[in-house]
Amino acid sequence: MRRANALQKVWAEDETVNISQDMLKDLIETVATRIIDHAEELTDLDKAIGDGDHGLNMKRGFEEVLATLDETANKTPPDALKTIGTTLVMKVGGASGPLYGTFFMALGKAIAADADAAPLAGVFGEAVDAVKKRGKSNAGQKTMLDVLVPVHEALARSDEGDIGRLRGVAHQAAEATVPMLATKGRASFLGERSIGHMDPGARSSALAIEAVCDVLEDRI
Ligand code: ADP
Ligand code: MG
Repeated sequence: MRRANALQKVWAEDETVNISQDMLKDLIETVATRIIDHAEELTDLDKAIGDGDHGLNMKRGFEEVLATLDETANKTPPDALKTIGTTLVMKVGGASGPLYGTFFMALGKAIAADADAAPLAGVFGEAVDAVKKRGKSNAGQKTMLDVLVPVHEALARSDEGDIGRLRGVAHQAAEATVPMLATKGRASFLGERSIGHMDPGARSSALAIEAVCDVLEDRI
């Protein structure tokens, strides 16, 4: 029933996801391509506060997603998300592979199961919670959650959910990890020396969300 903002138009009133096959394909392809195109930047960020593999890890995972794009985009959104999640767990590796895998799988599961009044924020929140659980982590620790949590909060404020604003929230949230002290993941080994660099997982999350925003802005 609620069509509070443009983002919610992807949800049909019967609470199924109102995404055409073509749009699903566009979403998957745009996210994958965006990550692959920024692999070097992600690797450089991970060189500063990690082991320098984040770009390569993500590129490997999303190249596999692209390799099976047609097949995946022919599935229902929940099944497509499950497939992507499984692929990322298998191909990305490191700390981020299981976490991104969990995110996509939980999102698929939530979309299949959920039917509440604010579905978009609701299902996104379930996926973010699954990442927290899997990572034993939360916002404030200089990780991907420092993007995912503020994006969820922005979605939950549905009156402010316009796509341009959401893109800005994701971008700025990644920037906001620069002065943070890492207390989770490999960067936490650096202690104070983790301060002054953007978290690579926060950046990859922002890139993915910005890519989704681009597609939605084009199409709805
Ligand atoms: P690894 O650290 O094993 O080399 P990657 O370089 O691929 O794995 O990914 C690192 C990113 O994973 C970090 O920048 C951070 O955003 C994210 N990350 C690591 N540990 C956690 C955690 N426990 N919870 C949430 N995100 C995490
Ligand atoms: Mg790494």
